Amino acid sequence: MPRYEYRCRACGDTFELSRPMAESSAPASCPAGHEDTVKLLSAVAVTGGGSSSAPAPQGGGGGCCGGGCCA
Ligand SMILES: [Zn+2]
Repeated sequence: MPRYEYRCRACGDTFELSRPMAESSAPASCPAGHEDTVKLLSAVAVTGGGSSSAPAPQGGGGGCCGGGCCA
């Protein structure tokens, strides 16, 4: 059974639940009993936020079409 991570917007706590995929978007109460929770994208979510890590261009030459391989 997959595990889903949720964040409580009332107390800021994060918690995990194991539940069927069909119930992944069902309301989940935090361990403190709050029901104002949001489901995080995955259990491997990066904590801290604000870090937009776009993939850097490989080779620095503008990618494939900059190197003549598409011409
Ligand atoms: Zn809570």
